[in-house]
Amino acid sequence: MCDQELLATLLCPICPSYLSPPIQVCTNGHSLCPTCFERAKPQCPQCPGKFINRRCFILERIYDKISVPCRNQKYGCTFSAKGLQIKKHEKKCLWEFLGRRIKNKHVWVLCEIRINGVNRRKLK
Ligand SMILES: [Zn+2]
Ligand SMILES: [Zn+2]
Ligand SMILES: [Zn+2]
Repeated sequence: MCDQELLATLLCPICPSYLSPPIQVCTNGHSLCPTCFERAKPQCPQCPGKFINRRCFILERIYDKISVPCRNQKYGCTFSAKGLQIKKHEKKCLWEFLGRRIKNKHVWVLCEIRINGVNRRKLK
């Protein structure tokens, strides 16, 4: 199996993010990305089951072994890395900052960057 196929098994069923450790599973075995989990817990959005603090270690092991794209991929970040490294990257990812702005409807920032190239100074 290639990384791409494995990656698909880590895709959140609710949103376009990937599952990341600790990966919680509901009583029927569904799992969610951290954002959806925080929003939905303790009720599973896919079935009547509940999250009872049970983790899926197999999925977590898969996560450790493959490269996962940055969660800001949807905003344009092309970085991908394994497990902890992607977590580290996401903390200082420029697109993370942009994503927040986009959510605040400041979409123009992204347009500006697409045209001028990424310029940190300009964003402050
Ligand atoms: Zn999600
Ligand atoms: Zn479920
Ligand atoms: Zn990134």
